[in-house]
Amino acid sequence: MFMIAIETALAHVRQTARPLPAEKVPLADALGRRLAEDIASDCDVPPHDKALVDGYAVRSADFQHRAAREEPAAVELAVIEEVTAGAVPTVPLTSGHATRIMTGAPLPPNADAVVMVEDTSWQAEDGVRLGVVRFRAGLNVQPDMNLMRRATSIRRGQIVLHAGSMVRPAEIGLLAEVGVSQVRVGGHPRVAVLSTGNELVEMGLTPGSGQIRNSNGPMFLAWAKRMGAATLDLGIVRDHRDAIQGRVKEGLAADILLISGGVSAGVLDLVPHVLQQVGVREIFHKVQLRPGRPLWFGIHDEGAKPTLVFGLPGNPVGGMVCCELFVAAALKRLMGGDAAEAPVIMASLASAYHQRGNRPTYHPAKLRMEGSTTIVETVAWLGSSDLRALAEADCWAIFPPGERHFQPGETIGCRRFMAR
Ligand code: AMP
Ligand code: MG
Repeated sequence: MFMIAIETALAHVRQTARPLPAEKVPLADALGRRLAEDIASDCDVPPHDKALVDGYAVRSADFQHRAAREEPAAVELAVIEEVTAGAVPTVPLTSGHATRIMTGAPLPPNADAVVMVEDTSWQAEDGVRLGVVRFRAGLNVQPDMNLMRRATSIRRGQIVLHAGSMVRPAEIGLLAEVGVSQVRVGGHPRVAVLSTGNELVEMGLTPGSGQIRNSNGPMFLAWAKRMGAATLDLGIVRDHRDAIQGRVKEGLAADILLISGGVSAGVLDLVPHVLQQVGVREIFHKVQLRPGRPLWFGIHDEGAKPTLVFGLPGNPVGGMVCCELFVAAALKRLMGGDAAEAPVIMASLASAYHQRGNRPTYHPAKLRMEGSTTIVETVAWLGSSDLRALAEADCWAIFPPGERHFQPGETIGCRRFMAR
């Protein structure tokens, strides 16, 4: 049976998927989208030399002179001002003086170190506190201690984020920090999901004899949502040409149409034929992959906007592998991401594994650390229909094609679920 290699299939998907038009959105709406522009900072970060601890801004020379003269006594300095975060110091430091300062506050001129409050004590006489602070004896005060110089994190005008990067909560924070309240992001693709099969009933119902619940529909919708797409639920359709055709036409309004089932070699596997009838051009069918071999991929580009169509294997685990490998790559492109592969994590196999057959196996597995070693443990898995195993797993352990016995401790590649 003819199958194309995963890499070839991926290359086809990436070539076929084109970025959607970018749009400008309020920062809060950018979460989960990809940047469509490089972002330059409009300010220095930090904007001033700042204290990193609560304590006293000092001149380190006041401490080094003392050390040079080998005086064991604690240094005492007169406190001339108190600066809290948001305030600005007004008095430059001169020898023998210190400024009480809080985390984040600007340093006074001439200060070159900050001593944390825990290393100091206030001086008092007859219960009355004096304006003098005493530093712990033997304290080693070096220039630049406990402070951050202006613009050492970000210079004004510096590019802090590049087009194509995913906006996560950290990026939202960084964008806010550098003055971006509206940002250009890649498009927000819509993914339609259609489940085919005479045997399927809605999740709320009790299956009759010969029937099963539709698990793929809710699963692929949830997956697409998690990947940052909008979704369109096309429900269940029977294995009937006209019925499938009608629902597929509705799905062509979306950017990506995922059709579950009906793409293998069964007598009711009608999907490829129907897709051809409605003008969806086949790009490939069947990938050298286990599970996930029946995958069908094509494009409908006769309408106003193109729709990428994936005919996913009906077996849930096969369908998910195809989502993670191929639909994710398409989504990434549509959203304006680059073509880079999701990272492969090298891990040490926890227990022996026997691989056979001419397809690479994506086996549901779990990653963990033991000391500094990354360990991967395959979960007990009955094959393509065994969703229970998938729910137990957090990655795929990838075994290359060919018959081979893997020993515990051998290094293999793994891919985390939903790695974007
Ligand atoms: P198919 O690809 O249509 O030949 O289906 C392959 C296997 O997956 C069959 O055992 C189907 O019953 C099962 N299957 C198909 N669609 C779904 C679905 N939406 N949810 C759960 N299992 C499904
Ligand atoms: Mg079917």
